[in-house]
Amino acid sequence: MMMPEENGFDVPEELADGRRRMLDADLAGRGISDPGVLAAMASVPRHEFVPFPLRIHSYDDTPLGIGCGQTISQPYVVAYMTQALRIAPGMRVLEIGTGSGYQTAVLAFMGAEVFTVERYEELSLAAEARLDRLGLGERTTFRTDDGSLGWPEAAPFDRILAAAAAPRIPAALAEELAEGGLLLLPVGALRGNQRLELAEKRNGRLAVRPLLDVSFVPMLGAGAFKAG
Ligand code: SAH
Repeated sequence: MMMPEENGFDVPEELADGRRRMLDADLAGRGISDPGVLAAMASVPRHEFVPFPLRIHSYDDTPLGIGCGQTISQPYVVAYMTQALRIAPGMRVLEIGTGSGYQTAVLAFMGAEVFTVERYEELSLAAEARLDRLGLGERTTFRTDDGSLGWPEAAPFDRILAAAAAPRIPAALAEELAEGGLLLLPVGALRGNQRLELAEKRNGRLAVRPLLDVSFVPMLGAGAFKAG
């Protein structure tokens, strides 16, 4: 049995309570207040981005495995990062680490034009198919590549969001950020012990501010952690 939702996407009945709890307790209850972010999190069907056996956990307050040793980020972290980036319709956004495509879908739902890069082709193709199926594919461009080297042909970007941690902000990403633009990236160790950094470009230079402590998978690439 499907319950119609006000925003056009359906949620299976057995997941409706979980989604409500996520929105009220995990997001609104922990400081997510941007109406655009809350609307996107209420609408984008997270259960479509989770492997079928884990579907019942789709709206839990936790990351989940999506194959290739990678994870779909915790809902709160997706909402927090999206809110910190102050997304407005029409913005050009570079995303490093497509993963399941869930964050991509949230950005596209908010009207951003998203360029998303993933090092695993299998994940990129699956994410692209999902967004097409959900009608969010029009504003998104997918690519399998090393995102630590940026996406020069599509630059500059108003926003850059990395869902994988790097030892420092990769030079190519700093370069491709537009003047006045915002970049969000977990900086730190290979596993755990990372801090989300928000950088703003002013007069060609980055002003960096630390936000919360996080634990992301590593960004493996020429401009980040060298793959072994
Ligand atoms: N936001 C995603 C989570 C992605 S996890 C979601 O919600 O589903 C981080 C992803 O970054 C992984 O899929 C990993 O393969 C990818 N990744 C790691 N290093 C990368 C690189 N150099 N270029 C592109 N993608 C990379």
